[in-house]
Amino acid sequence: MTAFDAIVIGTGTAGAYLANRLGRSGMKVAAIERKLFGGTCLNVGCTPTKTLVASAYAAHVARRGGEYGVAIGGPVTVDMKRVKARKDAVVAPRRAAMEAWLRDTENCTVYHDHARFVSPREVRVGREVLTAERIFLDVGGRALVPPMPGLDRVNYLTNVSMLEMDILPPHLLVVGGSYIGLEFAQMYRRFGSEVTVIEMAPRLISREDEDVSAAILDILQKEGIRVRLSAKCIAVDKRGEEITASLDCEGGPPEVSGSHLMLCAGRKPNTDDLGLEQAGVMTDKRGYIVVDDQLRTNVPGIWALGDCNGRGAFTHTAYNDFEIVAANILDNDPRSVEDRIVAYALYIDPPLGRAGLTEAEVRKAGRPALIGTRPMTAVARAVEKGETQGFMKILVDATSRQILGAVILGTGGDEAIHCILDVMYTKAPYTVLQRAVNIHPTVSELIPTMLGELKPL
Ligand SMILES: Cc1cc2nc3c(=O)[nH]c(=O)nc-3n(C[C@H](O)[C@H](O)[C@H](O)COP(=O)(O)OP(=O)(O)OC[C@H]3O[C@@H](n4cnc5c(N)ncnc54)[C@H](O)[C@@H]3O)c2cc1C
Repeated sequence: MTAFDAIVIGTGTAGAYLANRLGRSGMKVAAIERKLFGGTCLNVGCTPTKTLVASAYAAHVARRGGEYGVAIGGPVTVDMKRVKARKDAVVAPRRAAMEAWLRDTENCTVYHDHARFVSPREVRVGREVLTAERIFLDVGGRALVPPMPGLDRVNYLTNVSMLEMDILPPHLLVVGGSYIGLEFAQMYRRFGSEVTVIEMAPRLISREDEDVSAAILDILQKEGIRVRLSAKCIAVDKRGEEITASLDCEGGPPEVSGSHLMLCAGRKPNTDDLGLEQAGVMTDKRGYIVVDDQLRTNVPGIWALGDCNGRGAFTHTAYNDFEIVAANILDNDPRSVEDRIVAYALYIDPPLGRAGLTEAEVRKAGRPALIGTRPMTAVARAVEKGETQGFMKILVDATSRQILGAVILGTGGDEAIHCILDVMYTKAPYTVLQRAVNIHPTVSELIPTMLGELKPL
Protein backbone atom coordinates (compact mmCIF):
# COMPACT_ATOMS: atom_id res chain seq x y z
CA MET A 1 0.00 0.00 0.00
CA THR A 2 1.45 3.36 -1.05
CA ALA A 3 0.36 6.42 0.88
CA PHE A 4 -0.21 9.82 -0.71
CA ASP A 5 -1.64 13.12 0.48
CA ALA A 6 -3.98 13.20 -2.50
CA ILE A 7 -5.12 10.90 -5.32
CA VAL A 8 -6.51 12.35 -8.56
CA ILE A 9 -8.37 9.88 -10.80
CA GLY A 10 -8.55 11.04 -14.42
CA THR A 11 -6.28 13.55 -16.16
CA GLY A 12 -8.95 15.50 -18.06
CA THR A 13 -9.00 19.28 -17.80
CA ALA A 14 -9.95 19.38 -14.12
CA GLY A 15 -7.77 16.47 -12.95
CA ALA A 16 -4.57 17.40 -14.72
CA TYR A 17 -4.54 21.00 -13.48
CA LEU A 18 -5.54 19.95 -9.98
CA ALA A 19 -2.80 17.28 -9.75
CA ASN A 20 -0.24 19.84 -10.86
CA ARG A 21 -1.45 22.49 -8.43
CA LEU A 22 -1.59 20.07 -5.47
CA GLY A 23 1.90 18.75 -6.29
CA ARG A 24 3.32 22.26 -6.53
CA SER A 25 1.75 23.12 -3.18
CA GLY A 26 3.89 20.40 -1.59
CA MET A 27 1.36 17.57 -1.37
CA LYS A 28 2.44 14.07 -2.39
CA VAL A 29 0.05 13.33 -5.25
CA ALA A 30 -0.88 10.29 -7.35
CA ALA A 31 -2.38 11.15 -10.78
CA ILE A 32 -4.07 8.19 -12.44
CA GLU A 33 -5.07 7.99 -16.10
CA ARG A 34 -6.40 4.81 -17.72
CA LYS A 35 -6.22 5.95 -21.34
CA LEU A 36 -5.28 9.25 -23.00
CA PHE A 37 -3.53 11.97 -20.98
CA GLY A 38 -5.48 15.20 -21.26
CA GLY A 39 -8.83 13.41 -21.42
CA THR A 40 -11.78 14.12 -23.70
CA CYS A 41 -11.27 17.75 -24.74
CA LEU A 42 -7.71 17.36 -25.90
CA ASN A 43 -7.99 13.93 -27.51
CA VAL A 44 -11.56 13.24 -28.65
CA GLY A 45 -13.48 16.45 -27.98
CA CYS A 46 -12.84 20.15 -28.43
CA THR A 47 -9.34 20.18 -29.92
CA PRO A 48 -9.74 17.60 -32.70
CA THR A 49 -13.26 18.71 -33.60
CA LYS A 50 -12.40 22.39 -33.83
CA THR A 51 -9.35 21.48 -35.93
CA LEU A 52 -11.63 19.58 -38.32
CA VAL A 53 -14.17 22.41 -38.27
CA ALA A 54 -11.35 24.67 -39.51
CA SER A 55 -10.66 22.30 -42.45
CA ALA A 56 -14.38 22.20 -43.24
CA TYR A 57 -14.53 26.02 -43.15
CA ALA A 58 -11.59 26.24 -45.56
CA ALA A 59 -13.42 23.94 -48.01
CA HIS A 60 -16.60 25.98 -47.64
CA VAL A 61 -14.88 29.31 -48.26
CA ALA A 62 -12.97 27.82 -51.22
CA ARG A 63 -16.27 26.73 -52.79
CA ARG A 64 -17.66 30.24 -52.28
CA GLY A 65 -14.47 31.79 -53.69
CA GLY A 66 -16.24 33.12 -56.77
CA GLU A 67 -18.53 35.27 -54.58
CA TYR A 68 -15.44 37.08 -53.34
CA GLY A 69 -13.86 37.38 -56.78
CA VAL A 70 -11.41 34.57 -56.13
CA ALA A 71 -11.01 31.93 -58.87
CA ILE A 72 -10.07 28.44 -57.67
CA GLY A 73 -9.67 27.07 -61.20
CA GLY A 74 -11.40 23.72 -60.76
CA PRO A 75 -13.63 21.82 -58.39
CA VAL A 76 -12.78 21.99 -54.69
CA THR A 77 -11.89 18.55 -53.36
CA VAL A 78 -11.04 17.47 -49.85
CA ASP A 79 -8.24 15.01 -49.08
CA MET A 80 -9.49 13.28 -45.94
CA LYS A 81 -6.11 11.69 -45.21
CA ARG A 82 -4.55 15.15 -45.06
CA VAL A 83 -7.46 16.51 -43.06
CA LYS A 84 -6.94 13.76 -40.48
CA ALA A 85 -3.15 14.19 -40.54
CA ARG A 86 -3.60 17.89 -39.77
CA LYS A 87 -5.89 17.03 -36.87
CA ASP A 88 -3.42 14.45 -35.55
CA ALA A 89 -0.57 16.96 -35.84
CA VAL A 90 -2.50 19.35 -33.60
CA VAL A 91 -3.59 16.75 -31.02
CA ALA A 92 -0.62 14.36 -30.63
CA PRO A 93 2.03 16.88 -29.48
CA ARG A 94 -0.39 18.43 -27.03
CA ARG A 95 -1.20 15.06 -25.52
CA ALA A 96 2.53 14.25 -25.22
CA ALA A 97 3.18 17.67 -23.65
CA MET A 98 0.36 17.13 -21.16
CA GLU A 99 1.78 13.76 -20.11
CA ALA A 100 5.31 15.16 -19.83
CA TRP A 101 4.04 18.15 -17.82
CA LEU A 102 2.30 15.85 -15.35
CA ARG A 103 5.28 13.50 -15.06
CA ASP A 104 7.54 16.52 -14.47
CA THR A 105 5.26 17.97 -11.81
CA GLU A 106 7.03 18.02 -8.48
CA ASN A 107 5.69 15.57 -5.86
CA CYS A 108 3.45 13.91 -8.47
CA THR A 109 3.56 10.19 -9.34
CA VAL A 110 1.76 9.27 -12.56
CA TYR A 111 -0.01 5.90 -12.98
CA HIS A 112 -1.23 4.74 -16.37
CA ASP A 113 -3.97 2.24 -15.49
CA HIS A 114 -7.60 1.93 -14.46
CA ALA A 115 -8.42 3.07 -10.91
CA ARG A 116 -11.15 1.60 -8.74
CA PHE A 117 -12.13 2.25 -5.12
CA VAL A 118 -11.43 -0.44 -2.55
CA SER A 119 -12.64 1.68 0.38
CA PRO A 120 -13.34 5.39 0.97
CA ARG A 121 -9.59 6.00 1.37
CA GLU A 122 -8.10 3.28 -0.86
CA VAL A 123 -7.86 2.97 -4.63
CA ARG A 124 -6.61 -0.05 -6.57
CA VAL A 125 -4.49 0.74 -9.65
CA GLY A 126 -3.33 -2.39 -11.46
CA ARG A 127 -1.73 -4.51 -8.74
CA GLU A 128 -1.10 -1.63 -6.35
CA VAL A 129 -3.33 -0.14 -3.70
CA LEU A 130 -2.91 3.58 -3.06
CA THR A 131 -4.26 5.38 -0.05
CA ALA A 132 -4.91 9.07 0.66
CA GLU A 133 -7.01 11.26 2.94
CA ARG A 134 -8.14 13.26 -0.11
CA ILE A 135 -9.39 11.73 -3.34
CA PHE A 136 -10.47 13.76 -6.37
CA LEU A 137 -12.57 12.20 -9.14
CA ASP A 138 -12.30 13.62 -12.65
CA VAL A 139 -13.41 10.60 -14.66
CA GLY A 140 -15.38 12.46 -17.36
CA GLY A 141 -17.86 10.75 -19.65
CA ARG A 142 -18.30 8.90 -22.92
CA ALA A 143 -20.80 8.72 -25.76
CA LEU A 144 -24.16 7.34 -24.67
CA VAL A 145 -25.27 4.37 -26.75
CA PRO A 146 -29.07 4.47 -26.62
CA PRO A 147 -31.09 1.23 -26.49
CA MET A 148 -31.99 1.51 -30.17
CA PRO A 149 -33.38 -1.61 -31.85
CA GLY A 150 -30.94 -3.08 -34.39
CA LEU A 151 -27.79 -1.42 -33.07
CA ASP A 152 -26.27 -4.86 -32.40
CA ARG A 153 -26.56 -5.64 -36.13
CA VAL A 154 -24.83 -2.56 -37.56
CA ASN A 155 -21.49 -0.84 -37.19
CA TYR A 156 -21.86 2.56 -35.63
CA LEU A 157 -19.49 5.43 -34.95
CA THR A 158 -19.13 7.73 -31.95
CA ASN A 159 -17.07 10.88 -31.47
CA VAL A 160 -14.04 8.67 -30.74
CA SER A 161 -14.15 6.39 -33.82
CA MET A 162 -15.34 9.23 -36.06
CA LEU A 163 -12.12 11.10 -35.32
CA GLU A 164 -10.12 8.18 -36.71
CA MET A 165 -11.88 8.40 -40.11
CA ASP A 166 -9.66 9.24 -43.05
CA ILE A 167 -12.23 8.51 -45.75
CA LEU A 168 -15.31 10.38 -46.82
CA PRO A 169 -18.52 8.56 -45.93
CA PRO A 170 -20.80 8.72 -48.99
CA HIS A 171 -23.84 9.30 -46.77
CA LEU A 172 -23.49 9.93 -43.06
CA LEU A 173 -26.52 9.43 -40.81
CA VAL A 174 -26.13 11.41 -37.58
CA VAL A 175 -28.46 10.38 -34.77
CA GLY A 176 -28.83 13.39 -32.47
CA GLY A 177 -29.36 17.00 -33.52
CA SER A 178 -27.60 18.64 -30.62
CA TYR A 179 -24.18 20.24 -30.10
CA ILE A 180 -21.84 17.36 -31.01
CA GLY A 181 -24.05 15.94 -33.78
CA LEU A 182 -24.50 19.27 -35.56
CA GLU A 183 -20.78 20.05 -35.57
CA PHE A 184 -20.01 16.69 -37.19
CA ALA A 185 -22.98 16.99 -39.58
CA GLN A 186 -21.92 20.34 -41.01
CA MET A 187 -18.23 19.40 -41.06
CA TYR A 188 -18.85 16.23 -43.10
CA ARG A 189 -21.28 17.99 -45.42
CA ARG A 190 -18.55 20.52 -46.16
CA PHE A 191 -16.01 17.73 -46.69
CA GLY A 192 -18.40 16.39 -49.35
CA SER A 193 -20.63 13.73 -47.76
CA GLU A 194 -24.38 13.52 -48.03
CA VAL A 195 -25.59 14.06 -44.45
CA THR A 196 -28.89 13.33 -42.74
CA VAL A 197 -29.47 14.40 -39.13
CA ILE A 198 -32.07 12.37 -37.24
CA GLU A 199 -33.45 14.03 -34.12
CA MET A 200 -36.08 12.68 -31.74
CA ALA A 201 -37.30 16.10 -30.61
CA PRO A 202 -39.52 18.30 -32.80
CA ARG A 203 -36.62 20.76 -33.25
CA LEU A 204 -32.82 20.88 -33.24
CA ILE A 205 -30.95 21.72 -30.01
CA SER A 206 -34.18 21.97 -28.10
CA ARG A 207 -32.43 23.49 -25.07
CA GLU A 208 -32.17 26.73 -27.07
CA ASP A 209 -34.97 29.17 -27.90
CA GLU A 210 -37.22 28.25 -30.82
CA ASP A 211 -35.90 31.11 -32.98
CA VAL A 212 -32.35 29.83 -32.48
CA SER A 213 -33.34 26.26 -33.41
CA ALA A 214 -35.17 27.54 -36.50
CA ALA A 215 -32.24 29.69 -37.64
CA ILE A 216 -29.80 26.79 -37.21
CA LEU A 217 -32.11 24.46 -39.14
CA ASP A 218 -32.18 27.02 -41.96
CA ILE A 219 -28.37 27.38 -41.97
CA LEU A 220 -27.86 23.60 -42.17
CA GLN A 221 -30.59 22.97 -44.75
CA LYS A 222 -29.19 25.70 -47.01
CA GLU A 223 -25.95 23.68 -47.13
CA GLY A 224 -27.86 20.60 -48.23
CA ILE A 225 -28.01 18.78 -44.89
CA ARG A 226 -31.21 16.79 -44.55
CA VAL A 227 -32.84 17.02 -41.14
CA ARG A 228 -35.50 14.61 -39.89
CA LEU A 229 -37.22 15.83 -36.73
CA SER A 230 -39.65 14.10 -34.36
CA ALA A 231 -38.00 10.74 -35.05
CA LYS A 232 -39.56 9.16 -32.00
CA CYS A 233 -38.88 5.48 -32.65
CA ILE A 234 -35.54 5.08 -34.38
CA ALA A 235 -34.58 1.52 -35.31
CA VAL A 236 -31.59 0.61 -37.46
CA ASP A 237 -30.83 -2.32 -39.73
CA LYS A 238 -28.33 -3.45 -42.33
CA ARG A 239 -29.51 -3.74 -45.91
CA GLY A 240 -26.72 -4.80 -48.25
CA GLU A 241 -23.93 -2.24 -47.87
CA GLU A 242 -26.33 0.35 -46.46
CA ILE A 243 -27.53 1.14 -42.97
CA THR A 244 -31.23 1.88 -42.81
CA ALA A 245 -32.86 3.89 -40.05
CA SER A 246 -36.61 3.61 -39.73
CA LEU A 247 -38.17 6.66 -38.16
CA ASP A 248 -41.49 7.72 -36.86
CA CYS A 249 -41.10 11.17 -38.31
CA GLU A 250 -43.08 14.17 -39.37
CA GLY A 251 -42.52 14.66 -43.10
CA GLY A 252 -40.60 12.53 -45.60
CA PRO A 253 -40.53 8.78 -46.08
CA PRO A 254 -40.49 6.61 -42.97
CA GLU A 255 -36.95 5.32 -43.66
CA VAL A 256 -33.57 6.81 -44.50
CA SER A 257 -30.51 4.90 -45.70
CA GLY A 258 -26.87 5.84 -45.44
CA SER A 259 -23.40 4.37 -45.64
CA HIS A 260 -22.31 5.25 -42.08
CA LEU A 261 -24.12 5.82 -38.80
CA MET A 262 -22.87 8.15 -36.07
CA LEU A 263 -24.42 8.25 -32.61
CA CYS A 264 -24.53 11.66 -30.93
CA ALA A 265 -27.36 10.92 -28.54
CA GLY A 266 -25.85 12.35 -25.37
CA ARG A 267 -23.12 11.51 -22.87
CA LYS A 268 -22.79 9.07 -19.98
CA PRO A 269 -20.51 9.59 -16.95
CA ASN A 270 -17.63 7.11 -16.45
CA THR A 271 -18.84 6.24 -12.97
CA ASP A 272 -20.05 2.68 -13.51
CA ASP A 273 -16.64 0.99 -13.21
CA LEU A 274 -15.07 3.10 -10.48
CA GLY A 275 -16.13 1.02 -7.48
CA LEU A 276 -18.08 3.97 -6.07
CA GLU A 277 -20.18 1.59 -3.98
CA GLN A 278 -17.01 0.52 -2.09
CA ALA A 279 -16.51 4.14 -1.09
CA GLY A 280 -20.19 4.91 -0.48
CA VAL A 281 -20.17 7.81 -2.96
CA MET A 282 -23.69 8.78 -4.09
CA THR A 283 -24.70 9.18 -7.72
CA ASP A 284 -27.97 10.38 -9.24
CA LYS A 285 -30.27 8.29 -11.45
CA ARG A 286 -28.13 8.92 -14.52
CA GLY A 287 -24.86 8.03 -12.77
CA TYR A 288 -23.57 11.56 -12.16
CA ILE A 289 -21.78 11.99 -8.83
CA VAL A 290 -23.79 14.15 -6.45
CA VAL A 291 -21.77 17.12 -5.16
CA ASP A 292 -22.39 20.30 -3.16
CA ASP A 293 -21.51 23.80 -4.31
CA GLN A 294 -17.84 23.26 -3.44
CA LEU A 295 -17.87 19.95 -5.37
CA ARG A 296 -17.64 17.76 -2.26
CA THR A 297 -19.36 14.38 -2.50
CA ASN A 298 -21.41 12.88 0.34
CA VAL A 299 -18.21 11.14 1.58
CA PRO A 300 -15.87 13.49 3.46
CA GLY A 301 -12.48 13.65 1.72
CA ILE A 302 -13.83 12.79 -1.76
CA TRP A 303 -14.53 15.46 -4.39
CA ALA A 304 -15.89 15.12 -7.95
CA LEU A 305 -14.94 17.56 -10.70
CA GLY A 306 -15.69 18.05 -14.39
CA ASP A 307 -18.31 16.28 -16.49
CA CYS A 308 -18.78 13.42 -14.00
CA ASN A 309 -20.51 15.67 -11.44
CA GLY A 310 -23.23 16.74 -13.88
CA ARG A 311 -22.78 20.44 -13.00
CA GLY A 312 -21.26 21.36 -16.35
CA ALA A 313 -20.43 19.61 -19.60
CA PHE A 314 -17.67 21.81 -20.95
CA THR A 315 -13.95 22.26 -20.71
CA HIS A 316 -14.30 25.72 -19.21
CA THR A 317 -16.66 24.39 -16.52
CA ALA A 318 -14.22 21.52 -15.76
CA TYR A 319 -11.37 24.03 -15.48
CA ASN A 320 -13.52 26.20 -13.22
CA ASP A 321 -14.22 23.14 -11.05
CA PHE A 322 -10.45 22.80 -10.60
CA GLU A 323 -10.24 26.49 -9.65
CA ILE A 324 -13.07 26.13 -7.12
CA VAL A 325 -11.57 23.06 -5.42
CA ALA A 326 -8.03 24.49 -5.41
CA ALA A 327 -9.24 27.82 -4.01
CA ASN A 328 -11.18 26.14 -1.21
CA ILE A 329 -8.48 23.64 -0.26
CA LEU A 330 -5.28 25.58 -0.81
CA ASP A 331 -6.10 29.28 -0.79
CA ASN A 332 -8.72 29.59 1.95
CA ASP A 333 -10.81 31.34 -0.73
CA PRO A 334 -14.43 30.13 -0.54
CA ARG A 335 -15.38 29.80 -4.19
CA SER A 336 -18.60 28.10 -5.29
CA VAL A 337 -20.03 26.61 -8.45
CA GLU A 338 -23.08 28.80 -7.82
CA ASP A 339 -21.05 31.85 -8.90
CA ARG A 340 -20.76 30.47 -12.43
CA ILE A 341 -22.89 31.85 -15.27
CA VAL A 342 -23.96 29.35 -17.92
CA ALA A 343 -21.98 30.01 -21.10
CA TYR A 344 -20.98 27.93 -24.09
CA ALA A 345 -20.64 27.88 -27.84
CA LEU A 346 -21.83 25.64 -30.64
CA TYR A 347 -19.14 25.47 -33.30
CA ILE A 348 -21.19 25.17 -36.41
CA ASP A 349 -20.47 27.95 -38.87
CA PRO A 350 -21.56 30.60 -38.14
CA PRO A 351 -21.10 29.75 -34.46
CA LEU A 352 -23.57 30.18 -31.64
CA GLY A 353 -22.34 31.97 -28.52
CA ARG A 354 -24.57 31.73 -25.45
CA ALA A 355 -24.55 33.29 -21.98
CA GLY A 356 -27.03 33.15 -19.10
CA LEU A 357 -30.76 32.56 -19.47
CA THR A 358 -32.64 31.88 -22.68
CA GLU A 359 -35.72 33.93 -23.59
CA ALA A 360 -37.89 30.91 -22.73
CA GLU A 361 -36.29 30.69 -19.27
CA VAL A 362 -36.84 34.39 -18.62
CA ARG A 363 -40.48 34.12 -19.73
CA LYS A 364 -40.97 31.08 -17.51
CA ALA A 365 -39.50 32.90 -14.50
CA GLY A 366 -42.17 35.56 -15.08
CA ARG A 367 -39.85 38.45 -14.18
CA PRO A 368 -40.35 41.85 -15.87
CA ALA A 369 -37.75 41.94 -18.62
CA LEU A 370 -36.61 43.82 -21.71
CA ILE A 371 -35.46 42.26 -24.96
CA GLY A 372 -33.32 43.48 -27.84
CA THR A 373 -32.57 41.71 -31.12
CA ARG A 374 -30.59 42.44 -34.26
CA PRO A 375 -30.20 40.38 -37.43
CA MET A 376 -26.65 39.78 -38.66
CA THR A 377 -27.71 41.40 -41.95
CA ALA A 378 -27.61 44.65 -39.92
CA VAL A 379 -24.03 44.10 -38.71
CA ALA A 380 -21.52 45.81 -41.04
CA ARG A 381 -18.71 43.34 -40.33
CA ALA A 382 -20.94 40.38 -41.22
CA VAL A 383 -21.98 42.06 -44.47
CA GLU A 384 -18.36 42.82 -45.35
CA LYS A 385 -17.37 39.20 -44.69
CA GLY A 386 -20.31 37.89 -46.70
CA GLU A 387 -21.49 35.96 -43.64
CA THR A 388 -24.86 37.42 -42.68
CA GLN A 389 -26.71 34.36 -41.38
CA GLY A 390 -28.05 34.47 -37.83
CA PHE A 391 -28.99 37.12 -35.28
CA MET A 392 -28.23 38.36 -31.80
CA LYS A 393 -30.59 38.72 -28.88
CA ILE A 394 -30.23 40.05 -25.35
CA LEU A 395 -32.47 39.94 -22.26
CA VAL A 396 -32.32 42.45 -19.43
CA ASP A 397 -34.04 42.54 -16.04
CA ALA A 398 -36.40 45.53 -16.19
CA THR A 399 -35.97 46.31 -12.50
CA SER A 400 -32.27 45.76 -11.73
CA ARG A 401 -31.23 46.54 -15.34
CA GLN A 402 -28.76 43.66 -15.16
CA ILE A 403 -28.27 41.48 -18.21
CA LEU A 404 -30.01 38.12 -17.81
CA GLY A 405 -28.86 36.33 -20.93
CA ALA A 406 -27.80 36.64 -24.54
CA VAL A 407 -27.26 34.71 -27.70
CA ILE A 408 -25.15 35.59 -30.72
CA LEU A 409 -25.67 33.23 -33.64
CA GLY A 410 -23.44 34.64 -36.33
CA THR A 411 -19.92 35.19 -37.51
CA GLY A 412 -17.67 35.84 -34.52
CA GLY A 413 -20.51 34.99 -32.12
CA ASP A 414 -18.29 32.67 -30.05
CA GLU A 415 -15.96 35.61 -29.28
CA ALA A 416 -18.35 38.56 -29.19
CA ILE A 417 -20.56 36.90 -26.55
CA HIS A 418 -17.76 37.47 -24.02
CA CYS A 419 -18.26 41.23 -23.80
CA ILE A 420 -21.80 40.46 -22.61
CA LEU A 421 -20.70 37.59 -20.35
CA ASP A 422 -18.02 39.70 -18.68
CA VAL A 423 -20.48 42.52 -17.92
CA MET A 424 -22.86 39.90 -16.47
CA TYR A 425 -20.09 38.84 -14.06
CA THR A 426 -19.68 42.45 -12.90
CA LYS A 427 -23.45 42.62 -12.17
CA ALA A 428 -23.33 46.15 -13.61
CA PRO A 429 -26.45 47.62 -15.26
CA TYR A 430 -26.66 47.07 -19.02
CA THR A 431 -26.17 50.82 -19.57
CA VAL A 432 -22.45 50.35 -18.85
CA LEU A 433 -22.19 48.18 -21.97
CA GLN A 434 -24.64 50.36 -23.89
CA ARG A 435 -22.33 53.37 -23.43
CA ALA A 436 -19.14 51.50 -24.30
CA VAL A 437 -17.47 52.61 -27.52
CA ASN A 438 -16.63 49.36 -29.27
CA ILE A 439 -14.28 48.99 -32.22
CA HIS A 440 -15.57 49.39 -35.77
CA PRO A 441 -16.14 47.21 -37.73
CA THR A 442 -16.80 44.31 -35.37
CA VAL A 443 -19.77 42.20 -34.38
CA SER A 444 -19.34 43.49 -30.81
CA GLU A 445 -19.90 47.11 -31.82
CA LEU A 446 -23.59 46.40 -32.47
CA ILE A 447 -24.21 45.12 -28.95
CA PRO A 448 -24.47 48.68 -27.50
CA THR A 449 -26.77 49.58 -30.41
CA MET A 450 -28.99 46.57 -29.68
CA LEU A 451 -29.09 47.61 -26.01
CA GLY A 452 -30.28 51.06 -27.05
CA GLU A 453 -33.36 49.55 -28.71
CA LEU A 454 -34.72 47.36 -25.89
CA LYS A 455 -38.44 46.64 -25.75
CA PRO A 456 -40.58 45.06 -23.01
CA LEU A 457 -40.57 41.28 -23.33
C1 LIG B 1 -16.94 15.70 -29.66
C2 LIG B 1 -16.86 16.62 -28.47
C3 LIG B 1 -16.61 17.97 -28.67
C4 LIG B 1 -16.53 18.82 -27.58
N1 LIG B 1 -16.30 20.14 -27.81
C5 LIG B 1 -16.23 21.00 -26.77
C6 LIG B 1 -15.96 22.36 -26.97
O1 LIG B 1 -15.79 22.82 -28.10
N2 LIG B 1 -15.88 23.18 -25.90
C7 LIG B 1 -16.06 22.71 -24.62
O2 LIG B 1 -15.98 23.48 -23.68
N3 LIG B 1 -16.31 21.40 -24.39
C8 LIG B 1 -16.40 20.54 -25.43
N4 LIG B 1 -16.63 19.21 -25.20
C9 LIG B 1 -16.79 18.75 -23.80
C10 LIG B 1 -15.41 18.63 -23.12
O3 LIG B 1 -14.60 17.79 -23.89
C11 LIG B 1 -15.59 18.06 -21.73
O4 LIG B 1 -16.52 18.86 -21.04
C12 LIG B 1 -14.29 18.07 -20.94
O5 LIG B 1 -13.29 17.37 -21.63
C13 LIG B 1 -14.51 17.43 -19.57
O6 LIG B 1 -13.30 17.35 -18.88
P1 LIG B 1 -13.21 16.54 -17.53
O7 LIG B 1 -12.15 17.20 -16.72
O8 LIG B 1 -14.53 16.38 -16.93
O9 LIG B 1 -12.73 15.06 -17.90
P2 LIG B 1 -12.34 14.29 -19.25
O10 LIG B 1 -11.60 15.18 -20.17
O11 LIG B 1 -13.52 13.59 -19.78
O12 LIG B 1 -11.29 13.24 -18.69
C14 LIG B 1 -11.61 12.18 -17.87
C15 LIG B 1 -10.41 11.24 -17.87
O13 LIG B 1 -10.60 10.27 -16.85
C16 LIG B 1 -10.08 9.03 -17.32
N5 LIG B 1 -10.72 7.97 -16.53
C17 LIG B 1 -12.03 7.66 -16.48
N6 LIG B 1 -12.26 6.66 -15.60
C18 LIG B 1 -11.05 6.33 -15.09
C19 LIG B 1 -10.63 5.37 -14.15
N7 LIG B 1 -11.49 4.59 -13.52
N8 LIG B 1 -9.30 5.28 -13.88
C20 LIG B 1 -8.40 6.10 -14.49
N9 LIG B 1 -8.76 7.05 -15.38
C21 LIG B 1 -10.06 7.16 -15.68
C22 LIG B 1 -10.47 9.02 -18.78
O14 LIG B 1 -9.63 8.13 -19.52
C23 LIG B 1 -10.25 10.48 -19.17
O15 LIG B 1 -8.95 10.70 -19.68
C24 LIG B 1 -16.69 18.32 -26.27
C25 LIG B 1 -16.90 16.96 -26.06
C26 LIG B 1 -16.99 16.11 -27.15
C27 LIG B 1 -17.21 14.65 -26.91
